Amino acid sequence: MHSISNHLADVQKRVAQAAQRYGRLHDPIRVIAASKTQATDTIREAAACGITEFGENYLNDALPKIEALRDLKLQWHFIGAIQSNKTRAIAHHFQWVQTLDRAKIAQRLSDQRPDDAGALDVLIQINIDDEPQKAGIAPAALAEFAAQLLELPRIRLRGLMSIPHPEIDPQVQRIAFRRMRELFERAKPAGATHWDTLSMGMTQDFETAIAEGATMIRIGTALFGPRGGRRDG
Ligand SMILES: *Cc1c(COP(=O)(O)O)cnc(C)c1O
Repeated sequence: MHSISNHLADVQKRVAQAAQRYGRLHDPIRVIAASKTQATDTIREAAACGITEFGENYLNDALPKIEALRDLKLQWHFIGAIQSNKTRAIAHHFQWVQTLDRAKIAQRLSDQRPDDAGALDVLIQINIDDEPQKAGIAPAALAEFAAQLLELPRIRLRGLMSIPHPEIDPQVQRIAFRRMRELFERAKPAGATHWDTLSMGMTQDFETAIAEGATMIRIGTALFGPRGGRRDG
């Protein structure tokens, strides 16, 4: 308990300092706890420290945690690769999907979102450094993909997410975040009523992401400590 609360206080302080330094004091910057590989009890501790939003990458690991923590009314973000046979469970149990990069998946999520839940909030994942192995669409494909998503009644397009190639030099790292911000500003689709979220920045680089306009950062290691070897990533 003490260590998560200390870690959270440290992250919040660094977020506030970065917001101050980069002129972002009046912008919302949401901290999502990336809780992959973390036990249910650990997430409960984090929630007791005041964290309300958690990101999970692996559906089968996430579902029992979501079920066990239902009493806390947390917000769950899906931040991993989406297989089409998992869309129904994702549409039922998550409030956000940050890793949308295929129209077929988007269609299924919209079709399968339960009537009694609000629209599913979604971000389009961008492969900003054009890395061959990486998920996400190319910036050039964004306008057409966004227009397709806006046709779907049960998902609500909120913005963009990216995991840029990690760079050691923050000034070099910043270039990819800047390209994301420019894309986010330029690409707002006509008809998108809630285009307000730019999700970028993790433990290694969140201050640099804040410098370039992140409104949401996804933090694992800085809150929970280093993950074990299994399925890290
Ligand atoms: C694990 C993960 C994070 C958090 O990574 P840390 O470096 O531990 O902060 C953020 N985003 C995604 C998509 C992740 O999978």
